[in-house]
Amino acid sequence: MYDCIIIGAGVVGAATARELSKYNLRIAVLEKGTEVCQGTSKANSAIVHGGYDAAYGTLKGKLNVRGAKLYQKLSKELNFSYDKCGSLVLAFNDEDEKKLEELYENGLKNGVEGLRIIDKDEILNMEPNVSQDVTKALYCSEAGIVCPFNATFAFIENAMDNGVELFLEEKVVNIRKENDYILVGTEKGSEFKTKILINSAGLYSDEIAELAGDKEFKVKPRRGEYRILDKKVSDIVNHVIFTTPTKAGKGVLVSPTVHGNLIVGPTSDPVDDKEDTRTTDKGIEKVDEVALKLVPKLSLNETIRVFAGNRASIEQGDFLIFESKNIKGMLNLGGIDSPGLASSPAIAEEVRDFVSKYIDLTEKNNFIKERQAIPHFNELSDEEKEEILKRNPNYKKIICRCEMITEGEIIEAIHRNAGARTVDGIKRRVRPGSGRCQGGFCGPRILEILSRELDIPVEDILKESQGSNIVVGRTKGVL
Ligand SMILES: Cc1cc2nc3c(=O)[nH]c(=O)nc-3n(C[C@H](O)[C@H](O)[C@H](O)COP(=O)(O)OP(=O)(O)OC[C@H]3O[C@@H](n4cnc5c(N)ncnc54)[C@H](O)[C@@H]3O)c2cc1C
Repeated sequence: MYDCIIIGAGVVGAATARELSKYNLRIAVLEKGTEVCQGTSKANSAIVHGGYDAAYGTLKGKLNVRGAKLYQKLSKELNFSYDKCGSLVLAFNDEDEKKLEELYENGLKNGVEGLRIIDKDEILNMEPNVSQDVTKALYCSEAGIVCPFNATFAFIENAMDNGVELFLEEKVVNIRKENDYILVGTEKGSEFKTKILINSAGLYSDEIAELAGDKEFKVKPRRGEYRILDKKVSDIVNHVIFTTPTKAGKGVLVSPTVHGNLIVGPTSDPVDDKEDTRTTDKGIEKVDEVALKLVPKLSLNETIRVFAGNRASIEQGDFLIFESKNIKGMLNLGGIDSPGLASSPAIAEEVRDFVSKYIDLTEKNNFIKERQAIPHFNELSDEEKEEILKRNPNYKKIICRCEMITEGEIIEAIHRNAGARTVDGIKRRVRPGSGRCQGGFCGPRILEILSRELDIPVEDILKESQGSNIVVGRTKGVL
């Protein structure tokens, strides 16, 4: 019997697992995907928002501000990429300036530090490439950028270092209250008994809630489309540059990424299908129009990828965190759209407080607080390179020439806790395929390494989800 089961290994489930792993609890995470971080957490703007946008008095407002603070500490403890680079919301007319005032006042009420409304000279001094038509901006020093994949991997790896069990390809399809436990059934036929159940299934959290008879919310997915620009044009801005927000969301942004690219987007359009993450000409045109208004010299022709993600939005407009009416001990995390990434460590604390109502939480005395990232060979000093090569000659062989990723990094990504099992899983952990050629050169090498290290035929290696096999058969008997 588990003390706690978490459904979903996105950033929220992973952060929750890590938070709960501090205590003497038996914990499992059930994930339907072939890997961790295959839901919304893999496709978003990657911003740790300051917290001035969500209305005062909402859970979003409270948890975003707390989450942004926690990221500063967690990124150091768990060694994932995070940069508190600050953000600017640009105003171009009186109406926008009024909105900035509202955001500023709301931010102060939410407890956001480092907020200032600044004038044109200061803006252009900070960001010479934004539009000369800018009149004012809201500067927030507390906003930052993060690698959402590596944050998620860091949370789950460290949770597993502390005893959390992860079950992949276990889609939850049944939830039933038995006498003194909750019985969770999966599509494969596995059954898990638990005292506490956490529903952090993102876009599918409404369907999980319904399994317990909870019909308080319905996810209405909203798609956001993006461009990723090549590193060579990324130094055009240094902060996250936002347009003024609207009812539909925080609007389009232009931002550096922690990996040195530029991200431009997103749109915010309702879609019927939760898995509909197509990009469209219309969507990308919308992105371009606003982005060029913010930063007219943007080199959009240096796009190396377009992608889209779906927000788990609900009518209520706020995070909806509530105990199931029908199954005591089950907590639903509904409506975790933006700023869900920024808020995830704070949502984890809310879950911890919920668990403590049922179980006396005692801290582990052998809790492993820190986690080391996979070393990026190309960024090491000469001495560090020599040292690592003595231990592991695989770091000598460059597999991805765009991002200069070695075989050693890829092998480590496979053999860590919650290690990579798919081509995209490798890409998200150590970045081969994220550069200008988008895997054109290293793709076949990655397949071979995965096949060799996991000891499975190359035909069985997936790009990402079930059915996304890359090699469908052999032409000459030998690959
Ligand atoms: C376009 C866009 C931009 C965004 N930008 C930002 C931003 O800049 N900053 C920010 O803070 N937030 C942002 N967000 C929101 C943020 O990405 C999400 O709030 C966050 O990733 C949600 O994490 P999650 O763990 O709840 O969901 P997910 O990452 O979707 O994880 C849920 C997991 O549950 C699993 N699951 C589902 N059903 C089952 C089942 N039946 N059994 C087992 N497992 C199941 C899924 O496979 C998935 O892995 C953005 C979102 C989008 C779409």
